[in-house]
Amino acid sequence: NIYQKRLIQTSNFLCEAERVVGKSEKYEFLAETKQLLNIVAKSLYSDKEVFVRELISNASDAIEKLKYAQLTSNQPVESQIPFEIQINANDMNNTLTIQDTGVGMTKDELVKFLGTIAHSGSKAFIENLSKNAENGPNSIIGQFGVGFYSAFMVADKVQVFSKSYKETENAFEWSSSGDGSYEISEAEGVSRGTKIILHLKDDCSEFSKEDVIKKIVNKYSNFVGFPIVVNGDKI
Ligand code: ADP
Ligand code: MG
Repeated sequence: NIYQKRLIQTSNFLCEAERVVGKSEKYEFLAETKQLLNIVAKSLYSDKEVFVRELISNASDAIEKLKYAQLTSNQPVESQIPFEIQINANDMNNTLTIQDTGVGMTKDELVKFLGTIAHSGSKAFIENLSKNAENGPNSIIGQFGVGFYSAFMVADKVQVFSKSYKETENAFEWSSSGDGSYEISEAEGVSRGTKIILHLKDDCSEFSKEDVIKKIVNKYSNFVGFPIVVNGDKI
């Protein structure tokens, strides 16, 4: 009956059933990306929480891009999905998830945007490494910011599920342990936009705590033009 059907749909939505289908393909990061990741992952940079700002700003950019596409392209945009950023801190699993309903990425875009150093801050970081050798990399992580790769300061595995707003595109999972390569697989059960799951390092488990994340998000949410929801509560 209808009621049962609706219940099943709702529970499907709630259990967030993204899953990988088929074989995964392995890709090597380019040399400069490897170098950057290696430094970021081992860094003793003390202000690690800035990764939250970087990921929220990417989520916000992605929704802005979707709004722009809606105005300028002839691609229909699913209008039932609200423009918002959902964050979930899960201390049982030691994960932090950041999800947006923005443009999403195609497979080619995942390779291009997450596999190479596109971010201007990251480029400047690499260029300044040798100049600042005596101070160590920590002084320049703060100075330039390392964009998406800052996730690897706190996570030993990063999973990205993404589905482009472009109707004909399939969904994909990008995943990496930040150790020189990444994998891409086709995925199902992914809604439009991008969902990033950080599997936190043991010594970064504070970022899986709801109250800690709420405090950090509060600091940065002023600059974001879309609702941010943390563990069900609007910030
Ligand atoms: P920047 O934001 O300065 O371009 P980042 O390293 O933060 O650099 O991100 C690299 C690129 O990856 C972005 O430019 C964007 O194209 C893509 N990207 C990152 N996060 C998302 C996201 N949540 N949704 C869509 N694209 C994203
Ligand atoms: Mg960015």
